[in-house]
Amino acid sequence: MVSEALKAAEVSRETSQPIAQAAAAALRVQAKRGEKEWPRPPRCRVITIANQKGGVGKTTSAVNLAAALAMHNNRVLVVDLDPQGNASTALGVEHHSDIPSVYHVILEGGSFSDIVVPAEGLSNLFCAPATLHLAGAEVDLVPMVARESRLRRALEAYDLDNFDYVLIDCPPSLGLLTVNALTGADELLIPIQTEYYALEGLSQLLHTVDLVKQHLNPNLAVTTILLTMYDARTRLAAQVADEVRSHFGELVLGTVIPRSVRVSEAPSYGESVLTYDPGSSGALAYTEAAREMAYRGAEERK
Ligand code: ADP
Ligand code: MG
Repeated sequence: MVSEALKAAEVSRETSQPIAQAAAAALRVQAKRGEKEWPRPPRCRVITIANQKGGVGKTTSAVNLAAALAMHNNRVLVVDLDPQGNASTALGVEHHSDIPSVYHVILEGGSFSDIVVPAEGLSNLFCAPATLHLAGAEVDLVPMVARESRLRRALEAYDLDNFDYVLIDCPPSLGLLTVNALTGADELLIPIQTEYYALEGLSQLLHTVDLVKQHLNPNLAVTTILLTMYDARTRLAAQVADEVRSHFGELVLGTVIPRSVRVSEAPSYGESVLTYDPGSSGALAYTEAAREMAYRGAEERK
């Protein structure tokens, strides 16, 4: 039954009907529901999640992909690099100004071991919280030695063998914090909101990536594009998705994240959507997207 439905859904998928796509994704997740463990990468994958536009789903994706990976036998650290601390909030982690945060690590030579705390409710998930102090970091970093590489040095000094993934959630700018994130990572994941201006500004981001590759981190690669906040009711969303796919090809995950109220409600409970409403379309989509990432990474690093 499920496999027939899957086949039917796959066929509609080829005709790129968004609703059929969502149904196919749900069915695929259902079919794999028994699957408790995904492959763990041979060594820790450090993935920066960046897009200088605000509100495209960086934080939401960082938190929910991290939760999905953690629920499938991977150990995950989310580094919150946004002074707003939204990822910390969503993971149920305190981040008032007295808490030692990423600021301490990047600006004051502190260690990640001083600041990493378990996230609420999921045993394999950890967070390096951001506090508002980080708002000063863009300025405070300017006169510092090796100002672009401070995050990378701190990550190197920390025992990443304990983790399978580090996901770095960036602020909505291309300032020194984002440059630190790009310098400290092997991979870049770009969330793209499926709306009219989706591709605008991306060339600026990709230019920054090129500069970082040339001067600071030759290992950096754009490995993953994730389409977010997909509204299946509009033709525009399908058009934008097609455009992004024709531009970026296989980098784009097959799974798209639908617009879903549950996704936006979860953070106010200090939870990922996966724990807040596991059966919701948003939870299923983030699980499927994370699964794709886990299997792609396993293939790449054989
Ligand atoms: P960014 O970190 O890029 O600024 P966020 O992840 O904070 O973006 O998302 C911006 C807003 O959109 C937040 O209020 C978030 O809850 C909401 N949002 C993100 N993804 C979805 C989604 N799939 N469905 C509905 N709302 C979403
Ligand atoms: Mg954010």
